[in-house]
This record gives sequence, structure tokens and C-alpha cells, in this order.
Amino acid sequence: MKYDVIVIGGGPSGLMASIAAAKHGAKVLLLDKGNKLGRKLAISGGGRCNVTNRMEIQDLIAHIPGNGRFMHSPFSVFNNEDIILFFEGLGIKLKEEDRGRMFPVTDKAATVVATLLQQVQELGVAIRTNTSVKTIHYNNETVSEVELQDGSRLATASIVVATGGKSVPHTGSTGDGYPWAEKAGHTITELYPTEVPITSNDAFIRNKTLQGLSLRDIELTVLDPKGKKIKTHDGDMIFTHFGISGPAALRCSQYVVKALKKHKTKTIKLEIDLFPKMSEESLFQELLAKAKSEPKKALKNLLKGFATERFLLFVYEELQLDQQAIANTISHDVWRSVVTMCKHFSVEANGTLSIEKAFVTGGGVSIKEIEPKTMQSKKKKGLFFCGEVLDIHGYTGGYNITVAFSTGYTAGKSAAEQVVHT
Ligand SMILES: Cc1cc2nc3c(=O)[nH]c(=O)nc-3n(C[C@H](O)[C@H](O)[C@H](O)COP(=O)(O)OP(=O)(O)OC[C@H]3O[C@@H](n4cnc5c(N)ncnc54)[C@H](O)[C@@H]3O)c2cc1C
Repeated sequence: MKYDVIVIGGGPSGLMASIAAAKHGAKVLLLDKGNKLGRKLAISGGGRCNVTNRMEIQDLIAHIPGNGRFMHSPFSVFNNEDIILFFEGLGIKLKEEDRGRMFPVTDKAATVVATLLQQVQELGVAIRTNTSVKTIHYNNETVSEVELQDGSRLATASIVVATGGKSVPHTGSTGDGYPWAEKAGHTITELYPTEVPITSNDAFIRNKTLQGLSLRDIELTVLDPKGKKIKTHDGDMIFTHFGISGPAALRCSQYVVKALKKHKTKTIKLEIDLFPKMSEESLFQELLAKAKSEPKKALKNLLKGFATERFLLFVYEELQLDQQAIANTISHDVWRSVVTMCKHFSVEANGTLSIEKAFVTGGGVSIKEIEPKTMQSKKKKGLFFCGEVLDIHGYTGGYNITVAFSTGYTAGKSAAEQVVHT
């Protein structure tokens, strides 16, 4: 049987592309090399699947630092509100959490994956799992065949490449789509890890002094070698045995990767502000007022509850402060150095974990060579791309999944319309 559209990859982008293509009248075949579809989706959002974000399109785009502006067109076809309507229309109740993050009320990614699979099946999409695609064959102008690893070939008029990036390869995302795109004449922009834990060789990291310590509602800033701010993100973070992780660190990670490369330095400085809502002066005045109100208290007792105890113990050690020092004997200079440690806690980043360990792959098929209204290649007719294989990446928190659904829907719809109407 000859299919109108062959979708390669059954992640969120490929599943949505298959659904859109089938809904628009095409006979669709979905191929995936894994034994299950949606394997990465099933572990995303901490296993709860952050399906999208409820926010204005401009805000959504601001959370997609990797070529977010390209998304204006795909969002005009299928956006975050459409994703919400899509799932709710299939009986999946969603709930909104902080920062507009939308989750299934079941708190289970499996609910989302099962719903997508059911929809794909109901629409009559043929599915072949355990089927690895080797390459795509092209004629001068158009796609012609998909070649499988076993050497068999499937002729078709439209191919949607939804093979994902190179991160977390055990989910099937091993970068297979890039050479097929290059073969069609596409540029692959440099691949790099993004949304990835940051590494550091600082003594307190090496010695695991702060390992496991979580900091809430901090601000993390990436600085260039001249001390100029590159990017600041607020949120939570955690010290690990190799560096720092947690939402704020993941969001800053791409700026560390880029700054290390751009400035050709071995390390890039990060600063943690534990009290982002207070100026240095007001924090200093607060500490002075504390000391004045309880002048006979020991430093350790005076600062109880001011910050987490483990962090304070580290501060005392670093500044060589006697925890038993009596409040009214502590000089202004000492209070100022405590303030400096709380507002400018420094971490020298020397890199990140690998692209395989990253949540998301930065770089990919250049968006300059993709028609944004259709997701069709500008190099070959009938060739479409969607999802993480493209040079588009967002912060974790549902933005990548939103990109995958939006570009997937746009690609599937256009692929079907092109075949069905010709
Ligand atoms: C642990 C984790 C948590 C995450 N959490 C979030 C989050 O909270 N918010 C967010 O926005 N993003 C998150 N992400 C990122 C998000 O899951 C991905 O961006 C998204 O899954 C990309 O979708 P995709 O369809 O492009 O590719 P993928 O989901 O990677 O799917 C690609 C599919 O293609 C198949 N394939 C690959 N090569 C071939 C081949 N040769 N032949 C046949 N099939 C092939 C693979 O088997 C796979 O099924 C997370 C990622 C991870 C790893």
C-alpha cells in the first residue's frame, strides 16, 4: 500500500503530525524505531508531562530562546490554546500550575501518551514500531522513498521528519534525522546541550560541601569575563556532586555553553542572589537591625532562619567567622561580607553535562531553510520537519513540547493538504 504521508518518529511532534495529516484526509504511515511511541514524552515534566503553557503568544515566544520568533507562523496554525482544546476535546482534563504550566489532572504523562495513541489509531494511521529508518531518497526536486534498515523501500509523496534531537538517546532520539536533512541540502547548525546541569570544579563542589542543598526563589546570573550580565533567571536550584542543577540552572545552561565558546575561556562565572527582592543596602540594614535588637546573641543564633542553616555554616567557614561571636562585637565590614556572599555567591562554571544528558538539544536543521507556514523544506518538495530536530529550543516547562505539537500539527496538515489536493 502506498501512503500519502510517511511520518518518521513517534514523539510528540510525529504523533501530532500523524494526527493532523490523517484529519486532513491523508493515508498516513507512522514509523518509529522504538518498541513504544512517545517514550521521551512519557518521562517529560518529571513524568507528569507539561503539555503546554497558558500564556500570551509573545510570552510563549520569549520562553523559546532558540529561534522562538520562527514560531509565530506555526502558532498561527496551531498554538498553546489549540493544544489545550485538543486534549480537553479528547476528554483529558488539564490543570494550570505556576508560570502557566499545564498538566493533565491525573499528573501522569502516560495519560497524555495513551490519548495521543488512541487518537492516532482512531484516525486510521498505520503504525510500525521497531522500524528504524536508514535514509530518505530524493529526486532532483522532491522526496521519493524512505529506506528502512532492512533495506526495504517505501515510496511516498510526503515525508515528515520528526526524529527529535540527540539528547537522552535511550528514548530513541539519536540524531538520525540530521544526515537525511543534509542529504537534501539543508544546513545543520552546531548542536549543543541545553537545559542541562552545569558543572564546576570549585572546591566546595569538589568537596561536596553543599551537595544536595536546594535554594528556593533565588536569582542566578551568568556573567561574561568582564563581569557584565549575560542572562539572569529566577527560580529554584540545587547543588550537586558535579555542579548545579534545578530549574534556574537548566535555564542558564545554554548561556554558559555559548559564553565558554564565545570568550574561549575555561570558566564562566555565575552568581547566585539568595535575596533577589532586597537590595544589598537593605539586607545590610536588616542584619544591623537584627544585631542591634539582640546585641548579646551569638551570631549563630541571631541568624537562625535568616537563610538555610547549611548555607550559613558554609558562609561562616568561608569568611572565617566565629559562630559564637556576640552580635554587638561584629563589625560593619563583617556584615557587609555576609551580604556579599548572599547576594553574589559565586560559582565558576567549567561546562555542562553532555548533550546526551541534556533535556534538550540546541541547534539542528536551520530554520532559514524551512517555510514557517507549512514546515516544508525549501530544498525539497514533500519534505517536512517538526520538533526538536529543528534549530528551535525552549526552556523546560512545556515550551519544547508546545513547539513539537505546533510544528508537528503544521507539518502534518500541510503535508496532507499538498498530497490530497494534487
Ligand atoms: C527527562 C526529560 C524531561 C523533559 N521535560 C520537558 C518539559 O518539562 N518541558 C518541555 O517542554 N520539554 C521537556 N523535555 C523535552 C521534550 O520532551 C522534547 O523536546 C520533545 O519530546 C521533542 O519531541 P520530538 O517529537 O521532536 O522528538 P522525540 O520526543 O525525541 O521523539 C523522536 C522519535 O523519533 C524516533 N526516531 C528517531 N530516529 C528514528 C529512526 N531512524 N527511525 C525511526 N524512528 C526514529 C525515536 O524513537 C523517537 O520516538 C524533556 C526531555 C527529557 C529527556
